[in-house]
Amino acid sequence: MYPNPSIFANVASAVVYHEPMAKHTTWRIGGPADILAIPEDISQIEELLRLAIGHQIPYFVLGRGSNLLVRDGGIRGLVIKLGEAFSGYAIDGNEMTVKSGRTIVSTAHVAMKNGLSGLEFATGIPGTVGGAVVMNAGAHGSEMKDVLKWVQVLTPGGEVKFRSVGELDFHYRSSALRDSGDVVLSATFALASDNVEEMLAKVKRWSMRRQATQPLSFPSCGSVFRNPAGDHAARLIEVAGLKGKRIGDAMISDLHANFIVNLGHASAEEVMALMEYAKQQVLWQFGIELIPEVRLVGEDEARG
Ligand SMILES: Cc1cc2nc3c(=O)[nH]c(=O)nc-3n(C[C@H](O)[C@H](O)[C@H](O)COP(=O)(O)OP(=O)(O)OC[C@H]3O[C@@H](n4cnc5c(N)ncnc54)[C@H](O)[C@@H]3O)c2cc1C
Repeated sequence: MYPNPSIFANVASAVVYHEPMAKHTTWRIGGPADILAIPEDISQIEELLRLAIGHQIPYFVLGRGSNLLVRDGGIRGLVIKLGEAFSGYAIDGNEMTVKSGRTIVSTAHVAMKNGLSGLEFATGIPGTVGGAVVMNAGAHGSEMKDVLKWVQVLTPGGEVKFRSVGELDFHYRSSALRDSGDVVLSATFALASDNVEEMLAKVKRWSMRRQATQPLSFPSCGSVFRNPAGDHAARLIEVAGLKGKRIGDAMISDLHANFIVNLGHASAEEVMALMEYAKQQVLWQFGIELIPEVRLVGEDEARG
């Protein structure tokens, strides 16, 4: 057990204890975080990291929780949530620098309104710039690394550094930032000039397609599994006959088989059981191992 968590009380503008993570994930699932802090500026993040590391308290950085399954026992230690206070941006020619707490959707819209193209693919991705960079989020054949130039991070040692795309080992829905302990502060995108109306028409078409093919009225985390090489997880799960399969309040969507929706009060345990069931069925029927895209964090058991 680590020291009294009240050591964080005066560091960030908002610090809460035993905070249900279900309030901070798009799946509306997740047990309590011991401590959740919402810093307002970089110096507050620096101080949070310094205290956490100094007292050997684990920390986790949270964006909009749109790619997370937090287990029912919650998260031990400190969760640092970057949101509204980190949403500024600046445009310089064809480059756009955005703070990590801004949503990637609004970032893409600001870029388009300024005649800058490159982020349209991200207009249906409900995460922050920080989460999108860490996950190398992508859609419609493009991903973050295609438009990224620099990432500004705060290292666990308290240094602010710029990391280039080449340093960050971007892969399909992953990057070296994921387990580095670095906090992403901002990202700089290299964009191209384009016609505003044409870009808006393109994203409208994509949005209509998403609305027709994804269960957007239910809480979810988007795609649960990565697409295996040359195939689609949704196709495999659908052909395995699993659309509509339900465990408790967790259900494999009957609209898009790679989405597990929360019908009301689903627990992480129910979602994990359904994921395991889908994995086993796909492995058994097609010999293909599905790998989760969603990040599983936290503990099965609550603190005793
Ligand atoms: C309806 C729906 C549709 C979706 N569609 C897509 C899609 O088309 N393509 C796609 O790629 N994803 C999609 N997603 C998944 C998700 O939106 C993306 O992965 C998104 O980039 C996650 O961002 P986030 O801010 O929510 O990150 P979180 O879920 O909060 O965190 C994800 C990871 O990033 C880390 N992280 C977040 N912010 C920071 C930071 N500032 N510094 C350091 N680490 C950080 C976290 O620690 C965690 O490891 C979808 C999700 C939903 C719910």
